[in-house]
Amino acid sequence: MSPPGVRDSGPDAYRDSRTLTAPSAPNLVDGAALERDTAVRADACVIGSGAGGAVVAKELAEGGMSVVLLEDGPWVGTDEFSPEVTAAIPQLYRDAGQTVALGRPPIVVPLGRAVGGTTILNSGTCLRPPDSVLAGWAEAPGLEGLCADGLDLYFRRVERELNVSQVPEDLAGRNAAIVREGAEALGWSGGYLHRNSRGCVGTGLCPYGCPSGGKQHAGITYVPKAWSAGARLFTRTRAVRVELARGGQVTGVRARAAGGARVRVTAPLVVVACGAFSTPALLRRSGIRAPALGRHLTLHPATTMRAAFDDPVGMWDGVPQSYYVDEFADDGVILEGIAGPPAYLAALLEGWGPAHRAAMDTAERTAQFGVLVTDRPSGRVRSVAGHPLATYALGDRELEAFRRGLAALAEIYRAAGARSVTLPVAGAEPIALPNGRAVAAAIGRVDRRTLRTLAFHPLGTARAGSDPDGSVVDGRLAVHAVPGLRVADGSVVPSSPGVNPMITIMALATRLAFELLGEDPPQEEPEPASRPTAGRRGR
Ligand SMILES: Cc1cc2nc3c(=O)[nH]c(=O)nc-3n(C[C@H](O)[C@H](O)[C@H](O)COP(=O)(O)OP(=O)(O)OC[C@H]3O[C@@H](n4cnc5c(N)ncnc54)[C@H](O)[C@@H]3O)c2cc1C
Repeated sequence: MSPPGVRDSGPDAYRDSRTLTAPSAPNLVDGAALERDTAVRADACVIGSGAGGAVVAKELAEGGMSVVLLEDGPWVGTDEFSPEVTAAIPQLYRDAGQTVALGRPPIVVPLGRAVGGTTILNSGTCLRPPDSVLAGWAEAPGLEGLCADGLDLYFRRVERELNVSQVPEDLAGRNAAIVREGAEALGWSGGYLHRNSRGCVGTGLCPYGCPSGGKQHAGITYVPKAWSAGARLFTRTRAVRVELARGGQVTGVRARAAGGARVRVTAPLVVVACGAFSTPALLRRSGIRAPALGRHLTLHPATTMRAAFDDPVGMWDGVPQSYYVDEFADDGVILEGIAGPPAYLAALLEGWGPAHRAAMDTAERTAQFGVLVTDRPSGRVRSVAGHPLATYALGDRELEAFRRGLAALAEIYRAAGARSVTLPVAGAEPIALPNGRAVAAAIGRVDRRTLRTLAFHPLGTARAGSDPDGSVVDGRLAVHAVPGLRVADGSVVPSSPGVNPMITIMALATRLAFELLGEDPPQEEPEPASRPTAGRRGR
């Protein structure tokens, strides 16, 4: 039993399914079935139901405001998820999972498009940013409240709502155990991750939704609570623009339902939470001309390394992202599990025909782990015919960090007894271990032309700050000089936190909602028994 004021956030809490619910969808208007143009009034209109929007909608509704929530994607119930990649990707992902940041290398940036936003398909890792990152944010004039102490109660509230708790060893899978063995042999810092779970059983299907309902994504946590508090949700309804009066004050939102009907929401408060790619496009369509809009994109780019073992690994067994190594976090490199079912691996493998088949024949004995690199803002989201188009330039420092992370991961695999490692570069062949020289030489040759990267954490395109030329929103997440317009998603994050950003976005959204309600921070939130942090100096 937890002592009063402390919330159990250990493995027992992680697998505890007693409070697991499968919500129905009572307060939902499906835009695909909407036959007539519709006009509604509310105190607040929230656009986007992902990490930021769902949280704001729930908190505002519970605080007594009438709320309309607009979501471009569909409601997908837990029993509708498919383990088949060909069904799951178009069902849950924007652009069928092919959203890309153009540049060298081009970087695929998968985004969610469903109730719950990207949280419906994400890996569920919950990490607070290191205190050092938050201290950096709080140094900027107007952002003083974004320090560790200032955000603590909001983080606690999010972590309680999502039951953020630590993955038990027996659900973490052999893929994680291998990295743990290697890191421990080298004396490197790491640990089992905290995740938003209630009764996770380790199906390994996180990127396709969660068929057990264990992953506590925003669509089955915050959104149903918003419904219970009276919020109305329009799904498959895309906000076209925020409407502003002559004086610049927000008056509402115009949206288009998938069935063709027009939806008009009249509201004096609009919270935009479409994600770091779509928010700049919507704000531009609404006439916002802030110079920083769409700039300062960070991606937290990632890559993967595979290793071959003599014994079965089964990377798809257990929680795909269950373990991390933060030995090099202060240098901007964190290692985390990136794995998935055989079809997912098949899509990542180089080669085709017999070569591809040979690689799949050894899939059972293949391990895979990820390298994530903290990046400086070096991307931009423009709008082409109203749609987002991202460009991104991978910097020299970030490329060097990738080399460093790959070298560390190769060391880990060597220490864990791997036969070979395969680098994430075009045309890579396995490099036999323990030939450290060959590995180092191949890593030295990794460059922008050959590196295979992807990214899961786009941030910063409407970043918070006090200077209207260098930022889009102020410390209260209010768009500079536009009364009634707030932003609450990954786009406001001031710089890369160097960790997975979901609960940071949610904590900022919670803070925004409390401020809008005129309420003090929630004092009654219990301290988690273990804090979800990474980074040796961040602890
Ligand atoms: C494969 C994958 C794994 C990840 N794993 C993790 C993880 O383990 N931990 C972690 O912290 N983060 C993870 N992330 C990232 C995390 O999920 C996102 O950072 C977070 O969800 C972003 O929140 P958001 O509110 O900015 O946007 P989103 O959650 O993407 O929500 C935006 C919503 O707005 C909707 N929308 C867009 N435009 C409109 C419009 N015009 N009208 C109406 N609705 C609109 C979208 O359809 C979407 O539902 C992962 C991401 C991916 C892709």
